This record gives sequence, structure tokens and C-alpha cells, in this order.
Amino acid sequence: LYIDHPLGEGQTVPLSRDQAHYLFGVMRLGEGAQVALFNGRDGEWRAEVVEAGKKAGTLECRERTRPLQMPPDLWLLFAPIKKQRTDFIVEKAAEMGAACICPVQTDFTNSERVRTDRLQAHAVEAAEQCGGTYVSEVTDMQKLDRLLADWPEDRQLMFCDEALAEPSSVLPSLFAGEKGREDRRDAPWAILIGPEGGFSEPERDRLRGLSFAHPVSLGPRILRADTAAVAALTLWQLTLGDWR
Ligand code: SAM
Repeated sequence: LYIDHPLGEGQTVPLSRDQAHYLFGVMRLGEGAQVALFNGRDGEWRAEVVEAGKKAGTLECRERTRPLQMPPDLWLLFAPIKKQRTDFIVEKAAEMGAACICPVQTDFTNSERVRTDRLQAHAVEAAEQCGGTYVSEVTDMQKLDRLLADWPEDRQLMFCDEALAEPSSVLPSLFAGEKGREDRRDAPWAILIGPEGGFSEPERDRLRGLSFAHPVSLGPRILRADTAAVAALTLWQLTLGDWR
């Protein structure tokens, strides 16, 4: 269970009404029951129910069962699309271990704003569902051109460009046969996925001219943006992330 409260030896943790309802009403737990807690910062803790009421309750932390497991330092930048598909992207990116999920406004992005709090709640649910101890951070929507202008010096960008369809532009080929490319391997990365209408020509030209941006193909078919996000995260994890 995710709880936005410090966790530590002997720490008491008050439950909100919804959490009490879930644990005692839905899950039918009572005093003395054990619950696994995490807050995204202090690892996973085994806690005991010391007070179980209808609308409130208290847990007490007993022991840490897992340390905080940080995901690789990966950002997913994506242009928000329809509400449900945006929810899907956030949920899947959190499951796939993106440390930071950043909605970006591009030339052809249709939505002008997103509800960051709602998207953050999806990231929390995804962390709960996949047994993570870390919760991906969802940032407010930012303009792509401003983000690129303030780009952190060593971060590399996997720019998913549907206009490329050559096998030579898939991610692993960025490293094939190249010596002295370890800096790229060990650098923090970001993935960029465009909106339904793709990138504009000026955006594409700008991205192609940036030394840290690497145009990458996800294959010869044009994928929907939500599919492209999952495919790119999979490819990145396989080549540079948790699974390499
Ligand atoms: N402009 C395209 C069109 O309407 O023909 C569609 C863009 S696609 C639905 C949305 C985004 O997914 C793209 O901007 C790109 O970032 C990513 N994408 C989809 N298919 C891709 C591919 N085969 N290679 C690389 N990126 C892809």
C-alpha cells in the first residue's frame, strides 16, 4: 500500500478515510494484521494494524522488508493525446520504470493542459500494482522548445521519429561498432514521443541538429503514440536500462 507519510522503525502511520475503508472494509483486515507499506522514499516496510476503525485507523512500522529500489535515471517526454490514452502512457511508463514522466507541448499537441495530480495518482497505482518501492514523478506540462533550450548537459535524448524507417536507425545501432561511446551508455537518458500528428518539420530539423538528440526508428510501421511509448521504453530498457 502506498502511503504519503514517513516510514521507519516504530513509526506510527495514520490512515485516511479511504485507506481505512480499503483495508478494513474491502480487505477485511483487523487489528494485528500485517500490511506492506511504501512511500517512494524509505523502501518497503512491514507494518501492523494497531487501530482499525470504520473511518480511520493506525498502522505501526515493524521492520524494513526491502530497500528503496531506484529505477534508471530515465525521463519519458510525451505529447499528451486523448485522456484515456494519456492515462495509459503514464501507467505503462511507471510500470516500465521511467523515473520521470513529463508531458510536453509540441507544435501539433492538441491538449493545452493536463491534470498532473490525476496523472501522478496513476503513477502511484502503477507502482502499487508492480510491487515497486519507487514512484515515478509526473511533472507539469512543459513546452518542448523551452525544455530543449534548458537541456541538462550530459543527458542523451532518444528522439522517436516516425519519418525514419531504416533498420540502421534503431537504438542498438547507435552503439554498434562504435568505440568510445561508453559515455552514451552510462549517461542519463530521455525518450521523446510525438503527438498523433507527429513532429512538425521545424521541430524535426531542430531535433536533428542537437548533439544530444539521437533520431531512432521503432520499425517500419507508424505506431500510435501510446504504443510507441511502450515500444520505446522496452527498447531502451533492453539496450541501456534494467535488462541489459
Ligand atoms: N505523423 C504521423 C502520422 O500521422 O502519420 C503519426 C505520429 S505517431 C502516431 C506518434 C509518435 O509516435 C511519433 O511522433 C513518434 O514519436 C512515435 N512513433 C510512431 N511510430 C514510430 C516509428 N515507427 N518510429 C519512431 N517513432 C515512432
